Amino acid sequence: MRTLVLVALSALWAMAWEAFWEKSPIANGTSRIVVVQATSQERPDELYVDNRVFAFVPHPTKPNRYYAWLSIPYDCALESYAVGLLIEAVGQKRYAPLGTLEVVRGNYPKEELRVSSDKVHLTPEDIRRVEREFAQADKLYVTVTPQSHLDKPIVYPMQIAITSGYGNERVFNGLRKSYHSGVDFRAKTPQPISAIADGRVALIGDRFYGGKSVIIDHGMGVYSGYFHMSRIAVHEGEWVKQGSNLGKSGATGRITGPHLHMMFKIAGVSVDPIQAIEVFNRFVKEE
Ligand SMILES: [Zn+2]
Repeated sequence: MRTLVLVALSALWAMAWEAFWEKSPIANGTSRIVVVQATSQERPDELYVDNRVFAFVPHPTKPNRYYAWLSIPYDCALESYAVGLLIEAVGQKRYAPLGTLEVVRGNYPKEELRVSSDKVHLTPEDIRRVEREFAQADKLYVTVTPQSHLDKPIVYPMQIAITSGYGNERVFNGLRKSYHSGVDFRAKTPQPISAIADGRVALIGDRFYGGKSVIIDHGMGVYSGYFHMSRIAVHEGEWVKQGSNLGKSGATGRITGPHLHMMFKIAGVSVDPIQAIEVFNRFVKEE
């Protein structure tokens, strides 16, 4: 009898789409992947976390399977958010609730930093430059190229120790408070930097804070960024393969010593690059 019920239930499940996701609380500044097994009639279109939207992308290898990569902002309120998705069936879209996701405070340490005073006390000209650079970058990060170039495990930009993790609370010269929006790789002397995944070079520049910078668009709103470089070896618009050389690390921009600052953006939000790489690699290696 029990077996019969189970068989009947699995037959029912086979006809409906199914979502797989971890419902445990999530730390601010991290990311998580929601997988949906679609059917011949129904496929997921968009994932919603509160009012933020994440596109579903076909799984790189599995037929009829889709995933959305959600990001939680560092500064978001620590509360529970509604999660749901938009299901598309024969030209019609409907909202299906998936549950709630509780955001909790990540375990991020505090750092006191000293930098030269001309990088803390900005001149009106510096402020205009910083605003211009931020506006340009923000516009880029919310631009979604409607195809993902992520189809295999992501690699690190260099095989060198991490000196400062994502999320550290930072006090500059006892004055300016911010948080560390990326991860730092130690690089006392210039070291080659390689692309962590396939993509297109979306932006290169020499910024007030970031110094010589390269931003790669991996598609579907996922970007990686490489800052404080001494030399840039790629040009804007160029396609790069995973592992290809982007240039060398250095000490350009606002910096306390030479290193590579690497950034990872999902849907306009900076998340912990190391946690994001782990999340994606676990997902893509899953049987
Ligand atoms: Zn950094």
